[in-house]
Amino acid sequence: MNEKDMWRIKRNAIKCNHCGEIIESTYRHDFKTCSCGRVSVDGGHDYLRRCFVERGDYTDLSETEEIAGDPEG
Ligand SMILES: [Zn+2]
Repeated sequence: MNEKDMWRIKRNAIKCNHCGEIIESTYRHDFKTCSCGRVSVDGGHDYLRRCFVERGDYTDLSETEEIAGDPEG
């Protein structure tokens, strides 16, 4: 059971529910913060990282796709 590579990130983006800005992290160290500074994304297509004050601060717009288990590992 490999925990990694179960899914792949196609889009790493969130919309701030306060200022309405959509921010997207497009590469690993692409740290983006919205206009009002309430929420941030990071990680690009490697990992989904969000910074927020409260859970309801953002709407998640990220897209992932599951990867079928590769028999060759
Ligand atoms: Zn904002």
